[in-house]
Amino acid sequence: MKTRISREQVQDDFINKVAEISGENFFNCYQCGNCSAGCPSVDEMDLLPSQVVRYLQLGLADEVKNCRSMWVCAACTMCHARCPKGVDISRIMDALRMLNLREPKAAARVDVTDFTPEYLERAPQIAMISGYRKFLPL
Ligand code: SF4
Ligand code: SF4
Repeated sequence: MKTRISREQVQDDFINKVAEISGENFFNCYQCGNCSAGCPSVDEMDLLPSQVVRYLQLGLADEVKNCRSMWVCAACTMCHARCPKGVDISRIMDALRMLNLREPKAAARVDVTDFTPEYLERAPQIAMISGYRKFLPL
């Protein structure tokens, strides 16, 4: 695959928003792969955590906008603990989810009325709160 890289592409609005929301500097990453090697969710991901960062560095927003990896990320912060450059990919994944959920098409992805009262009575409250924080727009 040929990739054209330009200043405009690297300064893409979506990429800038990911940087702003996450507070992370993608350009600190030198692609050592430690994050991907230690990620417990990597088998279910379509992009490795280090690939997500690489695409953001290159301004390839379309590659990451709808990736499965952001939803599979367990926010365990193992990637951050293993990163020699201090890049916190859990924050980047969080920013990607947030931007995705702000899209109109994502509205009402989770609707509490879809759950039966019986289910809600026995559902673990912490898991419900955690799920809502992850899957609803802020
Ligand atoms: S561990 Fe850090 S420097 Fe290494 S690839 Fe992952 S984000 Fe980049
Ligand atoms: S925070 Fe997400 S990307 Fe990082 S190691 Fe955990 S599951 Fe993988």
